[in-house]
Amino acid sequence: MDKYFAETDLLNLSVFDFFIITVVSFSLLYFSITTISYFIFKRDNFKKYQIQALRPGQIKTEIKRSFVSILMFGFLSVPIYFGLHSGFFKIHFEFSWSVLLGEGLLLFIWNEVHFYSVHRFFHLKPFYKFHADHHYSHVPNPFSAYSFHWSEGILLGAVMPLIMCFHDFQVTSLMLLPLLSIGFNVLGHSNVDFFPAYSMNSIFSFSKRHSLHHKVPHANFGFFLPYLDAIFRTSGPDDESK
Ligand SMILES: [Zn+2]
Ligand SMILES: [Zn+2]
Repeated sequence: MDKYFAETDLLNLSVFDFFIITVVSFSLLYFSITTISYFIFKRDNFKKYQIQALRPGQIKTEIKRSFVSILMFGFLSVPIYFGLHSGFFKIHFEFSWSVLLGEGLLLFIWNEVHFYSVHRFFHLKPFYKFHADHHYSHVPNPFSAYSFHWSEGILLGAVMPLIMCFHDFQVTSLMLLPLLSIGFNVLGHSNVDFFPAYSMNSIFSFSKRHSLHHKVPHANFGFFLPYLDAIFRTSGPDDESK
């Protein structure tokens, strides 16, 4: 077991440094992955699910809203900071591949459950007006991934501090979560039909399922997997409007 991270380095940061590091890291991650993905997926060799053009000014609006979401993720680093200092949250600084694998899987499943719950909450009638900011993107693209109203940014960003209340993670597993989240989120918003031969409710149809959700918002609330929609009977049929 190697000790990659010096615990004291992290705990000696001020809360302001912790906030700035979170915002800058998320911004770098978001802007690099979305920009690269946007230019890759717009190429003709990727089959688009929805063929309509984006709205005029859509990407500019999405980038502005995404930066607000990233600021919310920064604010959520404050309770994590004080939780770590008070001893309420504990993280392990040793590294183990088996722990990373197990905790990575746990975080992937938790992210799915948390996203589905928050997403369904925002589809309730009194709260949909906030989620409408995300559905402004009728045709999604990688820049839509974090394009939320600030209130949704806060609830979605709570994915990490909530699970930290129940389990003491290895620091590298926690660093994996934003990578998993942005990676799968960008693929989910790519509007690319990666596996056209598979039906809408197949595990391989994550991107067309979410593209269809942006077009017809009453079904398909899952993040990447089809299982929660299947369990709670919110799977949509294949696109009936085509
Ligand atoms: Zn979306
Ligand atoms: Zn939605």
